[in-house]
Amino acid sequence: MPQSTSVSPPLPSDRPAVLISGASFAGLATAFWMTQLGYRVTVVETAAGLRRGGTPVDIEGETIQVLTRMGMIDAVRAKALPPRDFEFKDEADRTLGGLPTASSADEPATGRYEIHRDDLLDILFAAVDGAVEWRFGCSIVDLVNGPEGVSVTFSDGTAGDYALLFGCDGSRSNTRALAFGDGEASVFYMGGYFYLRVVAETGLLPANRSQIFSVPGRTAMLNGYDDRTDIALAFRSATQIDYDYRDKAQQRRLIHQHFDGLGWKVPEMLAHVDAEDDFYFDRASQIRMASWSTGRVALVGDAGYCVSPVAGFGGSMALIGAGRLAYALRRHPDDHGAAFRDYEAGLRPFVETVQEKAATTGMAMLFPADESELEARDRKISAGAIDL
Ligand SMILES: Cc1cc2nc3c(=O)[nH]c(=O)nc-3n(C[C@H](O)[C@H](O)[C@H](O)COP(=O)(O)OP(=O)(O)OC[C@H]3O[C@@H](n4cnc5c(N)ncnc54)[C@H](O)[C@@H]3O)c2cc1C
Repeated sequence: MPQSTSVSPPLPSDRPAVLISGASFAGLATAFWMTQLGYRVTVVETAAGLRRGGTPVDIEGETIQVLTRMGMIDAVRAKALPPRDFEFKDEADRTLGGLPTASSADEPATGRYEIHRDDLLDILFAAVDGAVEWRFGCSIVDLVNGPEGVSVTFSDGTAGDYALLFGCDGSRSNTRALAFGDGEASVFYMGGYFYLRVVAETGLLPANRSQIFSVPGRTAMLNGYDDRTDIALAFRSATQIDYDYRDKAQQRRLIHQHFDGLGWKVPEMLAHVDAEDDFYFDRASQIRMASWSTGRVALVGDAGYCVSPVAGFGGSMALIGAGRLAYALRRHPDDHGAAFRDYEAGLRPFVETVQEKAATTGMAMLFPADESELEARDRKISAGAIDL
């Protein structure tokens, strides 16, 4: 797997060329489908290799059908994680209630399960490696979205012409900024910030267990697996905070400001915050665009319709989006405009439902903003009426 700037040899140029920006779930799945449709595919990824880390991806519903059509479902099921119990805790570590356990890898293919993010990336990468041209350590710096094609200039000074461009470059999408002139305009701020770090197994909780502890405006969460622990801390902020995303010390200070003095397992969690810089800190946000395409450019996954980590569905949505886009292009092989309209018309209602639920119920259940929201959540926990 390429881990540094690399351009593999060009493929025979007898098919239309398409460019994909971003090599994560949306980009790799789109690359898979575009090769299936007969396009010559180039993938440009700003990182030196696949970007690893993060919490597991939910595999359920249409995602299972998509992975089945991609011929990957057996490989995914072979890596499925054991079911994980989910417990809401109070300060004294008493269990207030829980969520039904996800179905296990042994259940029929209709069940729901999880897979580590890196395992799914590897499966997707293996399916397209050798069939696409990779440009790691590179990104698009300029593009002209013309009636006959998209002309692109890359950060290494080279240029290329493509029939179509797919922006699969995440919630801070470069393609969205360049093709739609839209950086921040589509960002829907959900009212909080989160910290995530994956560490080796901590002993803070048993394997295959998630635990969550909330006070008004602050939530601490642990996910335990056989070999690792996710440490997640989230706090509410009515307005956005002006911080430098490169300044890890500043982000650590923000976490301490909100979590110092809290009980439960928070002091042990904060020790991990202080230990290393390899953490993820970001605002909870969604991308809500008026349209997911313009001319010959279409967005897939977080770039066009990020549902936020609160939804727990970002990876699945990217796979579903790539599958729907491919289906639309298959139906309209000579009319990308009609295909892009079909893709969006079919998927948008589902995206909006997931986004709405995450922004309302999801936030209230996982990150209660104040005392009354916390009490309402705890009543639901006691009644066994939590639905996430
Ligand atoms: C390292 C990492 C860890 C994550 N961890 C979690 C998590 O713990 N929980 C969660 O809910 N979600 C997480 N996410 C987000 C989650 O992967 C996405 O919500 C979901 O998978 C949708 O995938 P995507 O391909 O649309 O976007 P992403 O997974 O965000 O991938 C976007 C890709 O585009 C690349 N890219 C960015 N800018 C450019 C550019 N200018 N040019 C070329 N390429 C570019 C990025 O490097 C990345 O590989 C994580 C994402 C990353 C990259």
